[in-house]
Amino acid sequence: MSKKKVTVIPGDGIGPECVNSAVDIINATGVQIDWIERHAGERVFAQGIASGVPQDTIDSINETRLVLKGPLGTPVGYGEKSANVTLRKLFETFANIRPVRELPGVVTPYSGRGIDLVVVRENVEDLYAGIEHMQTPDVAQCLKLISAKGSEKIIRLAFEFARSEGRKSVACATKSNIMKLTEGELKRTFERIAPEYPEIESWHVIIDNCAHQLVKKPEQFDVIVTTNMNGDIISDLTSALVGGLGFAPSANLGSGIAIFEAVHGSAPKYAGKNVINPTAVVLSGVMMLKYMGEFEAAEAVEHAVLVTLEQGNLMGDVVGYDKGVSTSDYTKKIIGNLGKRSSAYTVRKAKPIQFPTISRNQVFRRANTKEIVGGDIFVESALPPAELGPSLESIAADSPLRLKMISNRGTKVYPDGNANIDCVSHHRCRFVHRDGLSVSFADVINLARKINETHEVCHVERLLRIDGADGFTKAQGED
Ligand code: NAP
Repeated sequence: MSKKKVTVIPGDGIGPECVNSAVDIINATGVQIDWIERHAGERVFAQGIASGVPQDTIDSINETRLVLKGPLGTPVGYGEKSANVTLRKLFETFANIRPVRELPGVVTPYSGRGIDLVVVRENVEDLYAGIEHMQTPDVAQCLKLISAKGSEKIIRLAFEFARSEGRKSVACATKSNIMKLTEGELKRTFERIAPEYPEIESWHVIIDNCAHQLVKKPEQFDVIVTTNMNGDIISDLTSALVGGLGFAPSANLGSGIAIFEAVHGSAPKYAGKNVINPTAVVLSGVMMLKYMGEFEAAEAVEHAVLVTLEQGNLMGDVVGYDKGVSTSDYTKKIIGNLGKRSSAYTVRKAKPIQFPTISRNQVFRRANTKEIVGGDIFVESALPPAELGPSLESIAADSPLRLKMISNRGTKVYPDGNANIDCVSHHRCRFVHRDGLSVSFADVINLARKINETHEVCHVERLLRIDGADGFTKAQGED
């Protein structure tokens, strides 16, 4: 039988130790894998490759379509992009699946409650598109992009994943009460698709309450599907419920491509010390085996991990680094336990995930009618709203558009503004047609040009009405 090729990226910091452990254990199951070693992350940045991902790594992933990777160190703040995010985006791995479960011997305040849940995190959209601009020298902006297609993909995948693992419920966690158009898109998509999976219970939970409920009663959750940033945060939280990042695996899934990695980072302070817990990468390997259809081997590794922990082989992250088993001994013990089965803990019987087929059309949802009813013209100004407002009104006197209001960071400050608002230099000036009619984009741009002769325009947005519904939200205090 021909060997299946897998690209293996050892990664930075503790990455190589964790990945070697997982590779040794997987090899010991007898599954035939041809590991193709490639690199990304810090050593690649050091070679001057700004993406952190060299071409031969990209070529290898394009060929194998399967990756087991260690964590990659990311420079913080300015400079290079995260090589992890680059990999996820390059291969459009739109779903990040992050399961956690209670493990034997890993005592936490939640032990005995049977936590066994999965966060399904949208992986390529949201604020993590990383589209940021300084709007003024002292106001930064990050675009939160949520598409109808992206929402459909992640929601369908969450339900398909739940079905493949025989899970009973899917909760959708969003901040749709505040971000009605972006987070609301995911919620509406969830509510539309959920009835197609009648055997799975579904409900919506606001993300902050979700965090609260996860700490209070985590066992109520089975699958949680959410947007990128929400998922990033709550999945670190869920890993802490079962003993920490050392036990939290993940899969990044796209159409026909999959990258398996721990949730944790490169924890550089532990690198090379043979003390780090490799379980998260080993369990990521279990997820990879299931994805490959190697269910028997996956089950064998999962049981071997459970038995190894039941035997009391705990590592420094659980019992303190002066008392823990070493990474290499822990790996040997798991290998030695292959074939044994835990009597107290069960392993889920999984079936292959039915990947949703979603149209690749760029225009995913067509509008019957789309009109422009005004424009938000953003102005950089040090003027107080009570002066800026009349100035804009006089500039717009000849335009078909009139100034409806000015808001500062989302709260109306003109007319009849709230005097308590501590304004910054970035004003959203909302113009609408004088008689409530639709306008052309040229009308908005012409007005912006005219305003720019007196003030500094820093951004322009159309106010769309799509199929009769407003495609924009109101400011706090706007009628
Ligand atoms: P981190 O590497 O995940 O480490 C944070 C803490 O988590 C560690 O100090 C350690 O806690 C614990 N920890 C992490 N992995 C562990 C393991 N295998 N076993 C036991 N404990 C473990 O997070 P970070 O320090 O914020 O990030 C370091 C670098 O990793 C950054 O450059 C970051 O950008 C990158 N990163 C990469 C990925 C990825 O490749 N997917 C993900 C996240 C972060 P204690 O100190 O309490 O022992």
